[in-house]
Amino acid sequence: MADLPRVGNAIQAANRRRLQELESRRQARTILAPTEVAGKYSAARMLTTTLGGQVRPITPQDLAAFRKAVADLGKKAQQGITAAEALGLSRPADVQRARAEIRYSMVARLQAGKLQLVTDSGPQSRMNRHHVTVEFVQYSAALARPGKPLGAAMWLVKESPLKFECDCEHFRFFLRYVASAGGWVAGRVEHGYPKLKNPMLAGACCKHLVRVMTDLQQSGGIRQRIASMVEADRLRIDAPGKARPKVFTVSQQEAEGMLPKRARTIRVQPHQRRATLAPKASQQDIAVALATFASKTDPNSRAIARALAALAAQQARQ
Ligand SMILES: [Zn+2]
Repeated sequence: MADLPRVGNAIQAANRRRLQELESRRQARTILAPTEVAGKYSAARMLTTTLGGQVRPITPQDLAAFRKAVADLGKKAQQGITAAEALGLSRPADVQRARAEIRYSMVARLQAGKLQLVTDSGPQSRMNRHHVTVEFVQYSAALARPGKPLGAAMWLVKESPLKFECDCEHFRFFLRYVASAGGWVAGRVEHGYPKLKNPMLAGACCKHLVRVMTDLQQSGGIRQRIASMVEADRLRIDAPGKARPKVFTVSQQEAEGMLPKRARTIRVQPHQRRATLAPKASQQDIAVALATFASKTDPNSRAIARALAALAAQQARQ
């Protein structure tokens, strides 16, 4: 497997590319000044409503209606989108490209609910790898959830809302805007409308993200790493004072060891678009967890208590 992407100094490389991207954005003539886009939006449930429950990739018209609907909803809107929903919202062409060209994703670094991954690149690409960031929006809820770390990891990858970004041009010029409007962008929020003749304002995932969303849900190795991160962060909460979240880096050898013999099959289910975003926590569980954290006074515990209270309030509204 000599042509696998390297996970080594993926972080430095990703940061470097982010700076380059910002610089080119500053000089860009392909992006309009912010217009009607503003505020914070939610994702899949709103999107399904906007789409009238129809199963098809999102279009510029959908986005306009979507923006209006979520603007009305305001801050009550929940952020993020699940991996399955992201796949369900992607254009068939990007799914096909991922199947044909992008075989692997490898996790390089994990910290406090944020993952850095690298994927291989397509045959036409000038880059030999791409960098993807995935953030678990409800990570603190996963820490507070009762149960084993592996169960929390399973919930995070399969059911919890995510934010994500890729450093490829497709994401940069088109999908970052869509993700910003949809409320699932990680990193820089792009409210400038792409000023191109025929902007492809459709889909959620580039081919690299299609691969990552697939592997994220299926890889036992990645899940195990996430469980380790959850375990460490739970311990950190129980022992206040250790303020810095632990960083997990993955060596090239370990990353290659996690790879399957053949690229994982990419499956896109249209019905995934209606997947519920709310975590499956009962009111009783939330009450127990709240009671546990209510007596603690360190900032992390208080943040978790607040998140739990918000979760309880949100479920009560439904
Ligand atoms: Zn990409």
